[in-house]
Amino acid sequence: MSRKNKVCVVGSINMDLAVNAERMPEQGETILGEGFAMSPGGKGANQAVAAARMGAEVEMIGAVGDDSFGRLLVSGLRDEGIRTEGVRTMPGTATGTATIILSGGDNRIIVAPGANQQVSPELVRTQKEKIAGSSVLLLQLEIPIEAVTAAAEIASDHHVPIILNPAPYQKVPGELVEAASYITPNVVEDMAMRQESFYSRIEHKLILTKGEEGAAYSAKGKMETIPSYQVDVKDTTGAGDTFNGVLAARLAAGESIPDAVAASNAAAALSVTKTGAQAGMPTRAELEQFLK
Ligand code: ADP
Repeated sequence: MSRKNKVCVVGSINMDLAVNAERMPEQGETILGEGFAMSPGGKGANQAVAAARMGAEVEMIGAVGDDSFGRLLVSGLRDEGIRTEGVRTMPGTATGTATIILSGGDNRIIVAPGANQQVSPELVRTQKEKIAGSSVLLLQLEIPIEAVTAAAEIASDHHVPIILNPAPYQKVPGELVEAASYITPNVVEDMAMRQESFYSRIEHKLILTKGEEGAAYSAKGKMETIPSYQVDVKDTTGAGDTFNGVLAARLAAGESIPDAVAASNAAAALSVTKTGAQAGMPTRAELEQFLK
C-alpha cells in the first residue's frame, strides 16, 4: 500500500464570525456594526485546506454540531477535495465558532469550541485506519489534549511521522512531544515551550515560524533560517496554518526538510497578501508561479 501524499489532520473545525465596528461596545451597550463576514476556520480545518491545495490527499478527523454551520463547513471541506468521513456530527451540540469584533487595529475574540470539545480519544481511535494509512499526521491543540495524544499514539505505533503545531499554546504532555517528529511553534509558542523541562530534548525537532522574519529549522545542532519574502501584507490570519498545512503536504510528498520549509515559507508569505484565513491559501500552481 502506497502511503505517499496522504495527510491526516486531527483537529478543530470552526465558523469564524467577524463584525467590524467603529469602536468596541461598552459593558451592557448595543452598537451598530459596519460589516459582517462569515468564514470557515479552526486550525485543523485551515491546515487541512492548505495541504489539500498543495495537492495532498487529505483526511480530516474532527467534529461539528448538528446545525447549519456544521453542514456548511463539511461541504466546504469536501469542495476542497478533503475526505470528511472522519468528521463526526454531534447531536445536541453547536458547531465551534469564533466570534470576532474588529475595531480599528484592535480585535476581541471569543471562541466557543462546541463540538470540537467532544473530539475524544475514543472518537479518534474509531478512525485508526485513516491515521495509520497516512504519510503524515498533522496535529494542533484546539481539541482536547487527550484526543491529540491518542492520535499521536496511533501514528507512532504505525511509524507515521507527526507534525505537532503547538497552537494555541498550552502545556503539552511529555509523551506527546516525544512522539512528535516535528514541532512547529511560532515565536510566542516557542518562548512558552522554552520554560518546559523537555525543551532541550525537542530542540532538534523544531521548525520555527518567525512571522515576517521567515522560518527556521534545526540542522546539525543549530537553527537554519530561511528569510521571508517582501510582500504586500493584507491579513496575517492563517499564516501559521498555511505554513503547517503546506509543510505536511510537502513532507508527505517526500520532500526534504529544507525544501519543505522553503515551500511552506513561500506559501505562507503568499497567504498574507489576501484577507481571510483560508481565502489566501495558495494552490500548488499559484505557489509554483510565485517561485518562478
Ligand atoms: P502565526 O500566524 O501562527 O503566528 P507566524 O506569524 O510565525 O505564525 O507566520 C507563519 C509564517 O507566515 C511565517 O513563518 C512566514 O513564512 C509567513 N509570514 C508571516 N508574516 C509574514 C509577513 N509579514 N511577510 C511574509 N511572510 C510572513
